[in-house]
Amino acid sequence: MKPQTLHCHTTFCDGADSPAAMAAAAFAAGCGAIGFSGHSPLPGQESWCMAPDKLAEYRRAVTALKAEYAGRMEVFLGLEQDYDSPDTGPDWDYKIGSVHCLPLPDGTLLGLDESAATLAAGVARWFAGDWMALARAYYARMARVDTVTGGEIVGHFDLITKFNEGGAQFDEGDPVYREAALAALHALAARGRIFEINTGAVSRGYRTAPYPAAFLLRELAAVGGRITFSSDSHSAATVLYGYREAIELARACGFSRCWYRTGRGFVEGPLPVV
Ligand SMILES: [Zn+2]
Ligand SMILES: [Zn+2]
Repeated sequence: MKPQTLHCHTTFCDGADSPAAMAAAAFAAGCGAIGFSGHSPLPGQESWCMAPDKLAEYRRAVTALKAEYAGRMEVFLGLEQDYDSPDTGPDWDYKIGSVHCLPLPDGTLLGLDESAATLAAGVARWFAGDWMALARAYYARMARVDTVTGGEIVGHFDLITKFNEGGAQFDEGDPVYREAALAALHALAARGRIFEINTGAVSRGYRTAPYPAAFLLRELAAVGGRITFSSDSHSAATVLYGYREAIELARACGFSRCWYRTGRGFVEGPLPVV
């Protein structure tokens, strides 16, 4: 099977390239499909989210590409719907449900993937320095991210480990951490949600392995969970970044099948060849 890249950002949000440039790169890389997943509008987070008045133009730009690539590569109009974003309606080919922030008692949002310093300062101030309290709060949201966002795909399941390479911020082996993460994983897997093996933080130099961590992937495979592959690409140069390694990781964790978006919805198939 040809690979798909279903988690892509463009200049409509915080990506570097236009939808046309991303589609051309995906086609040149041999993708069977590209799906666009611009960040849903989120008040106060305009630096990385789409502006509400850009949604119609985004829709038009991607729809034009569907016609342009007809018969050569499938093009899907998706959205990365944030947990805190206002409803964007059902009229999308699919949604990726993601938690990028946690709401704070002062009414602001703590950005989880902005920087290591922002996250550490947030934990110090709002969680009394207790990283396990952060983990419990985060995974409580992740456990229902699909029902809140309408996302069929679970976005970067363990995003709070973005800056935790080598255990720099907390111990991912802590039983409290594992219990919180596994509870969310089991809830989402039981509802048939598709977890992305996401290489975005690897391409940007934060991590050496994709999300989710191997212990989570092994458990997901053990319970018959569903996966897809994504690069969370923010530029034309990274549409299939790290897929070969991600596919090997999936295989090593017990997967021999994954899920693809088609004109008939999501269907299961063999692991892609890149
Ligand atoms: Zn995201
Ligand atoms: Zn993304």
